[in-house]
Amino acid sequence: MKITLVRGDITEQHADAIVNAANSSLLGGGGVDGAIHRKGGPDILAECRALRASSYGRGLPTGQAVATTAGRLNARWVIHTVGPVHSRDEDRSELLASCHREALRVADELGARTVAFPAISTGVYRWPVEDAARIAVETVRATKTSVEEVRFVLFDDPAYEAFAEHAR
Ligand code: ADP
Repeated sequence: MKITLVRGDITEQHADAIVNAANSSLLGGGGVDGAIHRKGGPDILAECRALRASSYGRGLPTGQAVATTAGRLNARWVIHTVGPVHSRDEDRSELLASCHREALRVADELGARTVAFPAISTGVYRWPVEDAARIAVETVRATKTSVEEVRFVLFDDPAYEAFAEHAR
C-alpha cells in the first residue's frame, strides 16, 4: 500500500472511497462533514438516517466506521468515522488510531482500492495536527489491508507539512 499526500478539498477527490470526519449523530456537521453532504447531495444523508433507524440507533461510536453511498461525489462510497475530541487529561490516541484501522477494514469489505482521508479530529475536535499526522500515518502503515492507495487530503499548509513529516 502506498501513502500519498495532496493539498486540497477532499470533496474534489476521485477515489473509490472518501472518509468523512463525521460526528456520532451521522446527521451532518461542519468542516469535512458539511462539505461532503453539501457536495454529495441528499442521498448520503438519507442513508445516514437509515443507519440511525437500524444498526446505529444511538449513533456511531467514536473510533468506529460505516459506509454509505457517495452520492454525487467522485467516489463510490463515503466511509464515515467519528474521531475523538482531543483531551489534555486523557490519552485518546487509540480511538484516533481505531478510526483509521476501522475505515480501512470497511474499505476492504467494500473492495475499495483507493481511499482518501482527511486529517481526522484536527478541526473542531482540536487534535494537534502534528500528533494526529503521526498517529494517522503510523496506523495506516501498520494495518494489513488490500487498499492500494491511502491518500491524505490536507486542507492547509500546516496539515500538509505535518503529514509530509511522517509520510516521507
Ligand atoms: P473533526 O471534527 O474530526 O475535527 P473537521 O471536519 O472539523 O473534523 O476537521 C478535520 C480537518 O479537515 C481539519 O484539519 C480541517 O481543516 C480539514 N478540512 C475541513 N474541510 C475540509 C475539506 N473540504 N477537505 C479536506 N479537509 C478539510
